[in-house]
Amino acid sequence: MQLPLPLPELAQIASTLPGPEDRIYVNRSLRLDQVQWVGFDMDYTLAIYHQDQMDRLSIEATCKKLCERGYPETLVGMHYRTDFPIRGLLVDRKLGNVIKMDRFKYVKRAYHGMRELSREERRQAYHTRRLRPASGRYHWVDSLYALSEVTVYSAAIEALEATGEHVDPEQLFTDVRECIDLSHRDGSILNAITSDLERFVFRDPALGQTLHQLRSAGKKLFVLTNSYPEYTERMMEYLFADQLGGRNYRSWRGYFDLVVTAAAKPSFFAHEGPMMRVAKPTDLPDAWTPHTGPGNREHTYAAGSVHALQEMLGCSPDEVLYVGDHIYGDVLRAKKSSAWRTMLILQEMDVELQANSELEHSIARLDGLLEIRNQLLDDLREHQAVVRQLQRRKEAEGLPAAFEAERVRHRRAVDRLRQRLKAIEHEYDELEAGVDHRFHPFWGSLFKAGPETSAFGNQVEGYAELYTARVSNLRFYSPSHYFHSPRDRMPHELTF
Ligand SMILES: [Mg+2]
Repeated sequence: MQLPLPLPELAQIASTLPGPEDRIYVNRSLRLDQVQWVGFDMDYTLAIYHQDQMDRLSIEATCKKLCERGYPETLVGMHYRTDFPIRGLLVDRKLGNVIKMDRFKYVKRAYHGMRELSREERRQAYHTRRLRPASGRYHWVDSLYALSEVTVYSAAIEALEATGEHVDPEQLFTDVRECIDLSHRDGSILNAITSDLERFVFRDPALGQTLHQLRSAGKKLFVLTNSYPEYTERMMEYLFADQLGGRNYRSWRGYFDLVVTAAAKPSFFAHEGPMMRVAKPTDLPDAWTPHTGPGNREHTYAAGSVHALQEMLGCSPDEVLYVGDHIYGDVLRAKKSSAWRTMLILQEMDVELQANSELEHSIARLDGLLEIRNQLLDDLREHQAVVRQLQRRKEAEGLPAAFEAERVRHRRAVDRLRQRLKAIEHEYDELEAGVDHRFHPFWGSLFKAGPETSAFGNQVEGYAELYTARVSNLRFYSPSHYFHSPRDRMPHELTF
């Protein structure tokens, strides 16, 4: 007998697939029903900061401190653009450049100050020998928190060089980093945030519902943050202030079974250290006391290591899903040192997805142009080889008339192909510049570098098992959802 179509279950699944901005993307398959504990980083994961406001705060505090160190006063009022940097860039301390690489560590774009380097300048600086990003010369910009360093650094190079000031790029970068760290340590930045949370932090109204949905399915939740207890307390209170109620959620703590602060990730994943108990959020580290045994949901913990925390969780490491925004500190380090499963929060996804959908036809045209160009190049090389062969013979022994006609025919084909190639390359360059500019005015797409995956995209692919724009996208999936990764294909498999 014919089954009635469509199958009601299938229709339901198809209609519940969230829209692209709400979706969770999968690099490695993961069964949510096998996850017992879900851990969350706080800053830029549960708490989403208004990037422009945060950057301005940090840049202004940093510039003031740079001037106190003897840099010219012009830095305080200098022009800067908070939308200049993106994640995944590399600062070249030696030359004072900021660069973007593809996954083969080939530099595809570079700026000195706010000036883009020409192809030839890039070639001379980076393409004649192998680039070693892990060497002390380079600094990875891998979190949203670090973007303001690049804004200050590039704007300062631009401003200082414009006034004829001698700039030591290495020293300037060290000073920028130290001044930013100092602004955090002396409270200039944190105090400004906690005194006006509304200005700096976006409160996701669906956060409580998302966490409740996970808890209702029997999952336990923890917080693992580098922030100190007092700041964590203030921030979490604010984030959940309008999402409390009922017997279970009298305070934000109702959502979590364990809270670990001052974790010092990434070294949290690599080193051993005792878990500490914090009696009062305002207590400083010397008042913390060592803790062993299971955790208490009413208490706040600090420091520790992944092994110490694992003992408190009391499950197998592959039953932990950790959600964070820092590709190195939360995801890459966690994957390298433990069997935790990982989900990366990428705020930039919304802009990337929007641009991808608007540019669908242009991106398809770029792929088509690349294919045509490669075919033309192959044809060109064949004709050139014949021309060269006949030319050599002509010079050595002269050519019979029939061969001479053949040589002229190939010669003309070469000219024709060259003209077509020029036109195709021109169209490709124009179209690519437009596409890149739509993604980001300075650097193009976060995940791509020309036709290749960017170095950052490569890290996301390699270490983040899941990635999505925000924590609350989890609410669109059942707590027993099976996240399937798309089947990987190598280039030779795409031939058929
Ligand atoms: Mg974070």
